[in-house]
Amino acid sequence: MKIFETDIVVIGAGPTGLFTIFEAGMLKMNCHIIDSLENIGGQCTALYPEKPIYDIPAHPSILASELVAKLEEQAKPFSPTYHLSQRVDEVQKLDDGSFLVKTSKNNTIKCKAIIIAAGCGAFGPNRPPLENIKDFEENSIFYAVRDKSKFKNKNVVIAGGGDSAVDWAINLAEIANKIYVIHRRDKFRCAPESLNKIKEIAKSGKIELIIPYQLAGLEGQNNKLSNVIVKDFDNNTKSLEADYLLPFFGLAMELGPIANWGLNIEKSHIMVNPATMQTSTAGIYAVGDIATYKNKLKLILSGFAECATAIHDAYKIVHPDQLFHFEYSTSKGIK
Ligand SMILES: Cc1cc2nc3c(=O)[nH]c(=O)nc-3n(C[C@H](O)[C@H](O)[C@H](O)COP(=O)(O)OP(=O)(O)OC[C@H]3O[C@@H](n4cnc5c(N)ncnc54)[C@H](O)[C@@H]3O)c2cc1C
Repeated sequence: MKIFETDIVVIGAGPTGLFTIFEAGMLKMNCHIIDSLENIGGQCTALYPEKPIYDIPAHPSILASELVAKLEEQAKPFSPTYHLSQRVDEVQKLDDGSFLVKTSKNNTIKCKAIIIAAGCGAFGPNRPPLENIKDFEENSIFYAVRDKSKFKNKNVVIAGGGDSAVDWAINLAEIANKIYVIHRRDKFRCAPESLNKIKEIAKSGKIELIIPYQLAGLEGQNNKLSNVIVKDFDNNTKSLEADYLLPFFGLAMELGPIANWGLNIEKSHIMVNPATMQTSTAGIYAVGDIATYKNKLKLILSGFAECATAIHDAYKIVHPDQLFHFEYSTSKGIK
């Protein structure tokens, strides 16, 4: 077991967790940041790294992966310690008001304040219930597109009827040999413009809409997929030649251990006072998607502002003997 000590522990290395490091650093507070995923970036990295985001201030368009890289760069001068591939399982408040944070890799971090930036909790993709699916995952089956080039001239089966399925079908149709879109209803849950676009491309045969069908089986050898079997509601089956399967059935959101930390939770979100972002436990704050209050907007830009609010409030806990002087970054610079 390793024991660390720091000012602030940030739980979750999504965009708001990463920006928290910067805000804390500007107020001379050190951070350790923990994430259950092996990479930083939260949803941006895990779900849509190659999608452009259009509502980050001063970036008319920025790929989600670029945003994460820039946030990492912005946090770097403050030398954060990253603990990745480990989940925070336990948070314990000590008599002196400090905390012990324990992870699934047996690391313990003592800190003065905690910022929970855990998004939807420890999340993972909804997997289709196919017996041998694990044999093909990370080789022929992916739940997010990290590298578009691998689909060049390939046959790709995309399953799902939401924005991710439809947007990726349109996007990959530019480079793939053939795209099959499997959906169990004839109604899609995507933006109307995207629906018009996919139907237009389908006329050329580049995309084939297989509706109403659902996934029924996988065939292949040595972790490499060769065919995806689909069936309709009368159990008629089709076998589709496929190099890759991309199931887009949304996220399984699980608060996980956070639910047991004695915080005020409402519908899987942590209630905070929006004036400070403090939870029902003094010294524990929540920011980003996991935090809720009246008129909450689940947007990255709102998460960024919440980080600044939380960190400014946490200053008095971390530096109880120092008077706080507000300064713009333009006046004090970095560090
Ligand atoms: C397809 C898609 C498109 C989107 N487009 C936009 C957009 O255009 N504009 C916009 O503003 N927003 C967009 N969003 C929403 C945006 O991605 C989220 O608002 C944002 O990611 C929330 O950031 P976060 O840091 O709060 O949480 P997340 O990004 O969810 O990160 C939370 C992290 O916490 C980790 N974690 C959770 N529990 C634990 C634990 N116990 N221990 C350790 N780690 C833990 C998780 O593994 C995760 O990495 C989009 C989302 C999706 C899915």
